[in-house]
Amino acid sequence: MEWPKPEGSQCPACGQRAIIVTSDPIEQTVSGREYRIDGFRYNCCTACGEEYFASGQVDEILRAANAAAREDFGRLSGEDIAVMRRGLGLTQVQLAARLGVSIGLVARWERGTVLPNAMADKYLRDLSAHPELVSEGELIAREGRGPYRARAK
Ligand SMILES: [Zn+2]
Repeated sequence: MEWPKPEGSQCPACGQRAIIVTSDPIEQTVSGREYRIDGFRYNCCTACGEEYFASGQVDEILRAANAAAREDFGRLSGEDIAVMRRGLGLTQVQLAARLGVSIGLVARWERGTVLPNAMADKYLRDLSAHPELVSEGELIAREGRGPYRARAK
């Protein structure tokens, strides 16, 4: 597929042949702050204002915005998180279980497409400073057998 689409292509949203190619800065909000991201060529519809990105660009834009936000908020980078997690001998599944978040979210932190919240960030730093806490109180989930019923002794 040709990307970006040539100027004058039809806009999938409004049907007008009003697609243009632009490199205007992209506004992306992270944790309530707006960041302007440069350096992307993408399509925009001059009729309805819809913007179109290739699927890979969306991740790149999020990574760029999060990288800027990370400095402002003083958060760990995706790489930091992955290094800390591996240093603690935890899988993404185990870390997700400890924090009560989805595995997908841990994967997105590590890819840099989602900025970890303050609590998750602090938890990781604390755990990295005290790796001895990892082995204590580790809960290991085992597949259940349906609703709980007391077992006969
Ligand atoms: Zn349009």
